[in-house]
Amino acid sequence: MPLQSAKSATDPLDRTVAILKGVGPAKAELLAKELQIFTLRDLLYSYPFRYVDRTQFHAIIDIMPNDGNVQVRGKLVNLSVRGEGRAQRLVGRLRDDSGAALELVWFRGVNFLQRTFKVGEEYIAFGTVQEFGGRLSVTHPEMEATAAARAETDVAPSFEPVYSSTEKLNRRGLDARGRRKLIRAAFAHVDRTALPEMLPAYLTEELRLISHAEALFSIHLPTDQAALDAARRRLKFEELFLLQMRLLQLKTTREARTAGYVFGRIGDVFNEFYTTGLPFTLTGAQKRVLREIRQDLGRGIQMNRLLQGDVGSGKTMVGLMSMLMALDNGFQACMMAPTEILAYQHYESVRDYVRGMDVRVEFLSGSVKGRARRELLADLAAGEIDILLGTHALIEPPVVFKNLGLAIIDEQHRFGVKQRAKLWKKNHPHPPHVLVMTATPIPRTLAMTTYGDLDVSVIDELPPGRTPIKTVHFTEHRRERVFGRIREEIAKGRQAYVVYPLIEENEKLDLLALEAAYDEMLDRFPRPDYQISVVHGRMKAEDKDAEMARFKNGDTQIMMATTVIEVGVNVPNATIMVIVHTERFGLSQLHQLRGRVGRGAEESFCILLSSVKLSKESKERIRTMVGTTDGFKIAEADLRLRGPGMIDGTQQSGVLQMRIADLALDGKILAVARERARSILETDPALERPEHQALRRHLDRHLRAVRGWGRIS
Ligand code: ADP
Ligand code: MG
Repeated sequence: MPLQSAKSATDPLDRTVAILKGVGPAKAELLAKELQIFTLRDLLYSYPFRYVDRTQFHAIIDIMPNDGNVQVRGKLVNLSVRGEGRAQRLVGRLRDDSGAALELVWFRGVNFLQRTFKVGEEYIAFGTVQEFGGRLSVTHPEMEATAAARAETDVAPSFEPVYSSTEKLNRRGLDARGRRKLIRAAFAHVDRTALPEMLPAYLTEELRLISHAEALFSIHLPTDQAALDAARRRLKFEELFLLQMRLLQLKTTREARTAGYVFGRIGDVFNEFYTTGLPFTLTGAQKRVLREIRQDLGRGIQMNRLLQGDVGSGKTMVGLMSMLMALDNGFQACMMAPTEILAYQHYESVRDYVRGMDVRVEFLSGSVKGRARRELLADLAAGEIDILLGTHALIEPPVVFKNLGLAIIDEQHRFGVKQRAKLWKKNHPHPPHVLVMTATPIPRTLAMTTYGDLDVSVIDELPPGRTPIKTVHFTEHRRERVFGRIREEIAKGRQAYVVYPLIEENEKLDLLALEAAYDEMLDRFPRPDYQISVVHGRMKAEDKDAEMARFKNGDTQIMMATTVIEVGVNVPNATIMVIVHTERFGLSQLHQLRGRVGRGAEESFCILLSSVKLSKESKERIRTMVGTTDGFKIAEADLRLRGPGMIDGTQQSGVLQMRIADLALDGKILAVARERARSILETDPALERPEHQALRRHLDRHLRAVRGWGRIS
């Protein structure tokens, strides 16, 4: 979270870094430009991203290609520029006591670095080992002359912070060592005892957290591992706690401000459906979520609820029944899906569910044109349509509802922030209640943070009668066996998906590969015994839909597809899915894909085909998929493997740019932080108690930085 850099005459932290010894105007400007460091505060609150233990060195002779990061100490025995133009590079060789030498390579800053390094001198080099043509090398290692490192006496020599830096800063002497000097100079200017403690004393005591000031010092200049651990724990807690305080405060403010329609009654439409229309018994989780939604809708505050539920958990039914509540209170409702196929499928199922009832359901997308469209829009504006399903076409300006009371968004991560904002304007005087549904399970830690100001419901139970999907991993050379399995399923009257990756940058190649694969499939599954459908992203929507329909109706037994079938498509008779080039799919994508099978009562299979050689990460992904079908477990693994920034649905939030906390690893601290924040606001909502004054001042001061997250739209 960006800290304010506002000028305040009294606070020494707000003084410019230019007052530090060794920082002239030029360096100050560079720090500002390269790292957005203007003030002492900015400097001290940019934490090291790692620490090096200067007592641990690899012997060059023992280094293996897979060692990853290595730290070596040795003499620079050679340094020369090689290659021309773009291939130009500086190549050095570092020889250590083991007698072996390691190649060091730089592509940027060649001339400058050539002047800086001295052959014959001893250096500590740190970087990632790579293997090129059987030779080990490190590209752009961090380098430090051993003599200079030894001269820094006031830090335990074994423990040095490393900050993110840039080539330009390195050149100007603001490399790792230069930065440490600055930090020390900054601490000399700032009275550490005057650094404010914002957490109430009872909290730090109870959780055994060190003070803010002590933590800030130790995070930069730890004396030992224990001091560093204590500093980290304190600062992580602080960051997560303050974030939670803000989110909870925002939630309170939003609720106080955004009035919503009161859906006070459960009426005829809902009851008629519940007693005669509902084709199955709701699961406990569906009932619980419906109760939560009903409560929201009755409060007179606009609902903003996120509904998470694994593929096939029955979210559509919950959405439909929520819409019926709107109808019972004299309002219209709509549900929006990201693709035409999916939106139409919703339309069909909703239409079938309410068949025979006095409820008018219509479908709208870009492909509804001309007179049909004009009539539909007129009826919608006149309030003659009760439920409208469709694509993002529903939120375009010409679409006017008479009185939209509830808007449901399926697969929210596919919709941009702007599109969601349009929804809010679809009705007056109050915005519609909003229910966002997603089958991309967001790990609890992320949900708490990204959606910390939203209400979250979870359907954590699948409808009964589903047999779990059996997932197995096969490498390419066992393709024949895989084809055999497909034949067995088809012989039982079932259908099969065969899924191929389609990566945008490489669309043409992938299309060629798909064509080749199609030929292969035709050989293996000849007509007329077998019929094959093909669907890919390059096809026109109508053709795609027609092909999907053929498969859905059972006219074809095999559906070869790229990831376009990812979301929502429902063919219960499909019992086997083969994913080709599994290594090219992300975990959450694989999970979504697999959810296409196992939708009927029959046992279903998912076969993950991959090449023999796999990266560590691919292996981990496959192991996860084979090991569990639990979407939340998969999401946790995805978070571990990719980091929070990459998780679907969170990219735009910006909330996740943490200084020190790591949402993938600090779930426990986060849970405590959230619980503490909640209980403080429960007992002292306006933070009026004396022991909360420092906290209140801190939050007031930094609240501006986070305004605007308050709405999901
Ligand atoms: P989601 O949108 O969460 O992926 P759907 O709403 O498409 O799931 O539901 C998947 C299938 O399960 C549908 O065929 C639906 O009719 C069925 N279903 C939903 N709820 C139940 C239930 N309580 N009992 C039995 N089947 C259900
Ligand atoms: Mg769905």
